Order: sequence, then C-alpha cells, then structure tokens
Amino acid sequence: MNILLSSIVKEEDIIYMANAAKYCSLKLGGNFEYLVLPKNIDDFICYIINLQHSNINFKVLGNMTNIVPRDGIIKGVFISTKQIQSGIRVFQNRIIADCGTMLSAVCVSAKEHSLSGMEGLFGIPATVGGAIYNNAGAFGTEMSNILESVLICKAGKIKSVDAKDIKFDYRFSQFQQDKSIILSATFLLSDGNKQDIWQKMQENMQKRKNSQPGLPSAGSVFKKYNNISAGYYIDRAGLKGLSCGDAKISNIHANFIVNNGEATFKDFDYLASIIEQKVYEKFGVLLQKEVEYLGENDESTSRLSHT
Ligand SMILES: Cc1cc2nc3c(=O)[nH]c(=O)nc-3n(C[C@H](O)[C@H](O)[C@H](O)COP(=O)(O)OP(=O)(O)OC[C@H]3O[C@@H](n4cnc5c(N)ncnc54)[C@H](O)[C@@H]3O)c2cc1C
Repeated sequence: MNILLSSIVKEEDIIYMANAAKYCSLKLGGNFEYLVLPKNIDDFICYIINLQHSNINFKVLGNMTNIVPRDGIIKGVFISTKQIQSGIRVFQNRIIADCGTMLSAVCVSAKEHSLSGMEGLFGIPATVGGAIYNNAGAFGTEMSNILESVLICKAGKIKSVDAKDIKFDYRFSQFQQDKSIILSATFLLSDGNKQDIWQKMQENMQKRKNSQPGLPSAGSVFKKYNNISAGYYIDRAGLKGLSCGDAKISNIHANFIVNNGEATFKDFDYLASIIEQKVYEKFGVLLQKEVEYLGENDESTSRLSHT
C-alpha cells in the first residue's frame, strides 16, 4: 500500500487492485492499482487539495463511460467521483451541481423547476465533471451552451472560472490540457414549460434507445470528421457486425463497439484499429478516438498528472 496515499485518503475509500470491468461502462479491462471512491464532496475536495500538494500523480474519473481500460495492471491512483451524489441546488434560473452528480439527475431537476436548456443532454450517462471535461453533447446541445461557471481546483487552490473564459470545442474543453479538477458547476437555464421539457427529454431518450445498442459500451468510439458522423464511414466501409472475441462493432450503431460478455481491451483495440485502417483506405479519413484509453504506454497515462 502507498503510505503517502493512505496518509491523505481514508483507508475505507481506497480499493487496491480494483477490477476495472466492475466500474466502467464497457465492462472490460484489468485492475486499477489504486481506485479511490470518496463518498462525499468534502472528502473529495480534501483529497484533491492534499494530493495536488503532494508529489503523487493521480487522475480523476467520473462515471467511467468514456474510458477504455487496458488489460493488466493500470498503474497509478484513480479517483472516481461516481459515489458523490450529493448536491443539486436550484436558485431561480441557476442550477449548481457537484462534479459527481449524474448529468441526467441535473436534467430531471431542471424539468422539476420548469427550466429549459438541458433537454438534449438527458440520457448521457455522464457525471457533471466528466461531461464538462469532454464538453459532452447531443441533439444540438453541448455542455458549454448552458454553463455559467465552473469551480475548479488547480495546484491545491480552489477558484471559480466563468464559462466564457474557458476554451470549449467539439468534445473538447481546456481541462483536457491543464491540470484543473472540476469540483462543481453552475448552469444558467431559461424559463420553460415543465410538460414540454419532459416531453422533449422523453423523445430524446427514445431516440437513444432506438439508435444505440443496449449492451456495455463506451459510447461513440470515434469523433465526427468534418461534421459527418464516424458511424457513416464505418458503416460504408462494411464493418458493422465485425467481431473480435466478445467485442463487436454494433449492427445497430456502427460507431459503438459493444462487449458481448468477456471482451478484453485487446479485442476492443483490434476492432478500433481495423476501423481506423479501413476507413482511411476507403475514404482517406483519419478518424480520431473519442474514447480515452487508460493504462501504460498510452497518452492518457502520460496525462496522469493532475498534480
Ligand atoms: C451508452 C453511452 C451513451 C453516450 N452518449 C453520449 C452522448 O450522447 N454524447 C456525448 O458527448 N457522450 C456520450 N457518451 C460518452 C460519455 O458519457 C461522455 O464522454 C461523458 O462526458 C463521460 O463522463 P464520465 O463521467 O463517464 O467521465 P469518465 O469517462 O469517467 O472520464 C472522462 C474524462 O473526464 C475526466 N474527468 C471526469 N471527471 C472529472 C473531474 N471532476 N475533473 C476533471 N476531469 C474529470 C477524466 O479524467 C477523463 O479524462 C456516451 C457513453 C455511453 C456509454
């Protein structure tokens, strides 16, 4: 056990060699060397400040719906906010939510208070922190469209940043480049009609159910290219339904690789590589991954530096 880590984090919040498949939406991968699961936002903030002051490298995770853990031991300290389901506060047109809160819970709260703006985001299986980090979006709305400010922790110091001062782009936020941890966010919404809001959310949920496979996945594997969905290219390259072990390019949504049971990282990565190669050969298009690989010899591990 890492002695410095256990002097910062409560022992009951640390899992040594945690089975990644148990925690990530894709249900595969090896073991996180250290997985920290804080149970409340106060403990989380305390851990982050102390870890940023120490020389321990760590990476914060949310609901683990955009990550693909490698097989074997995934070295380092990972802190998931998925058990912090505490706070949603509503003040007139503003909703403040902690980083571990599920985005869909914030959407429901918006509906309850007749606040419009988040209808498109309902159903994205993200935490608030993960969704801001990736500037997640669907049905014409991105996180950046409704954010007013974000409370972050950087170099052990907490500060509020206005959304207009944060760089956002398609599935990009500046938090992917700097070392800030997202603690909470304030959303600014507009007045709406509760029934209309709920109807729109239900319609969007139905569209998801119709167009996405109901099997373990990490959502879209590749980003759009020139505003055209990666699924378009993958489908036309004839790759739908291709399998490797228990991993399969979904017949329902070509940009989803699903886990039919016992898929490994290698199976997933093989299919992702085939997609990259075949789409490039057929269209000259180099697809960029939307999912993030976790584990050694990989760029996400070198980004394992939230200190
Ligand atoms: C079935 C399915 C459907 C999906 N549909 C969509 C969709 O419609 N639109 C869309 O955009 N995405 C979609 N996704 C992908 C995924 O939900 C998003 O990328 C989401 O933003 C990931 O959030 P998360 O909480 O799971 O983060 P994780 O996957 O746990 O982490 C993602 C990244 O965020 C960082 N991070 C997380 N929390 C923090 C924090 N508090 N501070 C700093 N960094 C943090 C992590 O370090 C990591 O790099 C889907 C995924 C699935 C499985």
